[in-house]
Amino acid sequence: MKPINKETALVVFSGGQDSTTCLFWAKKNFKSVEALTFIYGQKHVAEVEIAEQIAKEAGVPWHKMDVSFIGKLGRNSLTDSSVVMDQDKPADGPPNTFVPGRNLFFLSIAAVFAREHGISHLVTGVSETDFSGYPDCRDAFIKSLNVSLNLSMDEQFVIHTPLMWIDKSQTWALADELGAFDIVRYRTLTCYNGIPSDGCGECPACKLRREGLEKYLKIRSRV
Ligand code: ZN
Repeated sequence: MKPINKETALVVFSGGQDSTTCLFWAKKNFKSVEALTFIYGQKHVAEVEIAEQIAKEAGVPWHKMDVSFIGKLGRNSLTDSSVVMDQDKPADGPPNTFVPGRNLFFLSIAAVFAREHGISHLVTGVSETDFSGYPDCRDAFIKSLNVSLNLSMDEQFVIHTPLMWIDKSQTWALADELGAFDIVRYRTLTCYNGIPSDGCGECPACKLRREGLEKYLKIRSRV
């Protein structure tokens, strides 16, 4: 294991709007940045290629890891084509776009990976503000996991969540402030139907992204 390098951050990077904004946030706040993309059995593996391209353009060393077992553990509409995607949040829990254990596994694996690379800072694009009821996007979960990871490996990891308390329009504003508005708008893939940029326009992820963008563009045009 290399000595801990507090100047480097590892971004859990999917190639979507949120994690791309986080990638540029990390580039601004750390001397060096690396990105880790997970293949978790998602239906649209194009997002892995998109993540690689964006990382390359951003000059960030990129790593990928196959953890496809995660998608098979819990039945959900992002990894199982036979599950019809919930368009709205059901009253009794998160929509079936929730991949149980995803952030738990991602961050745990990222921490082990980071440790092996001498990195103690992890960055993830989870947000409690816009969350669709995903429990593993909540601040309490992240803080709890941070403590557990530190205890489990006797390390001092710091999980950074720059988007935790901001909504989608503020995430657009942050990307703009970081000089990454165009790359986030035109290159990223957020759509649950696997269409980059503005996406299919119909799925819950596209709706959330578009509403945030429209709100932000209105604010920007007034300034
Ligand atoms: Zn879509």
